[in-house]
Amino acid sequence: MSLYPKLFRHLILPTLDLPNRTRVAHHHRFLEASQWWQADRLLELQRSKLDTILDFSRRSAVFYQDHWRNAPEDRRAASEHPALDGLPVVTKDDLRGALKHFPVAGWHRGSPFKKRLVTVKTSGSTGVPMTFLRSGEQEAWFWALRLRMWQWGGYVPGEPYLTLNLNARTKLVKRFQDVLFRCSYHGFNANRGDVDAVLRDLENKGVRHLVGYATSLYLLSQAMAERRIANPGVRSILSTGDSLLPTYRRLIEDVFGVRVVDYYGAGGEGFHLASQCEERGLYHLHPENAVVELLRDGRPARPGELGEIVVTQLDNRAMPLLRYATQDVALAAAAGASCPCGRHMPLIEGVQGRVPDIVMAPDGSALVVHFFTILFEYLSGIEQFQIEQNVADRIVARIVRRPDYRQQDVETKVRHDVGEATHGTLAVDFEYLDHIPTAASNKRRLVISNLRDTPLSVSAPQEERLIETPHALAGDGA
Ligand SMILES: [Zn+2]
Repeated sequence: MSLYPKLFRHLILPTLDLPNRTRVAHHHRFLEASQWWQADRLLELQRSKLDTILDFSRRSAVFYQDHWRNAPEDRRAASEHPALDGLPVVTKDDLRGALKHFPVAGWHRGSPFKKRLVTVKTSGSTGVPMTFLRSGEQEAWFWALRLRMWQWGGYVPGEPYLTLNLNARTKLVKRFQDVLFRCSYHGFNANRGDVDAVLRDLENKGVRHLVGYATSLYLLSQAMAERRIANPGVRSILSTGDSLLPTYRRLIEDVFGVRVVDYYGAGGEGFHLASQCEERGLYHLHPENAVVELLRDGRPARPGELGEIVVTQLDNRAMPLLRYATQDVALAAAAGASCPCGRHMPLIEGVQGRVPDIVMAPDGSALVVHFFTILFEYLSGIEQFQIEQNVADRIVARIVRRPDYRQQDVETKVRHDVGEATHGTLAVDFEYLDHIPTAASNKRRLVISNLRDTPLSVSAPQEERLIETPHALAGDGA
């Protein structure tokens, strides 16, 4: 190990906490130890922190006092955590209308470290802005967790890293911190100039670690493969932000000769919720900082079922998110699942997409984006496809054909596989187009569900959510 990572860990990280009024170094040391705790010890810590934040909110948070009294019955989902059982789920729209109640009175009482307030404004893709507040305490957990998750992927704190598409930081003091963190930021639209700039930095700055949206990493790898460029020295790759499809993972790992570790969080809301470890299998939750529930039909998802990810933050007194519906959907792990790494945090199978990206059939089965990418990957003659669901028992498959397209074969195969997966309850219509239009966010959505009332959604999806956006990672720049 060179000298700088030691300096970074023992001197720079703790020193940066002073002007930032955070405890990143402290929490990071704690998390490095607690990752090896037994399950009951972790859950005891979580239970105790959950009681504390609920008690604080019950006494001081006007918004939750009101919400818990007046929310409609169908929001009062059951929970495996007794303290949360029957507490109403909260949505972004609920919070948007109640910003005047935050930060919660007295949020910083108790600790001199807690006086810092971070404000993150996110702009929804339809231009409906949202503001999230987080305490310095939650901010510190956010950064400390990020360091731990990245370490699981091979990152060594203090070694140079490069991020694709995480928000660049403009303030001088932040830029100074980036120098200490040895971080380079790149916006990335996969044009030749962007690829060249990234490759130049990878080489010239001795970058060891690469972090970015799965699609950006994929597009970078594709450009490198086409130009026969070898890995300039990257040792770990972390993906986040959008689905790491199996085809993406294969190409990235082929081109770089490095394993990709995927993690899930949202910078706007300021949480890191789940991440793969070096085993690259199931996703570990981080019970030290949040309770993550998967809810379906107002109850916890059963092993192997899909459920909406609902989050309760344990360290954000300024604007606690308590049973906050993320609109993201994950698959619950099988009963008794464990990870060979030896960590005992709760596990989930992985994030499968956004609520509006999942087709629900009348028999209750759910078809996620991966189902369709795998199905279409093995059919020849298809340039592009898109699935849209507007009614409960039918989907439309839009297809851009190549010359070798065989209509009869494809239609039969798609109808057969969809029918088999949904016990014959979902019909498929076909539409042939010259091109498939992109959404307002400039991304092409593979699957669009316009159903308003499904078992996966705690509340009717809003227009904004119909447009796919990667998780804002604005918080990474806070
Ligand atoms: Zn593991």
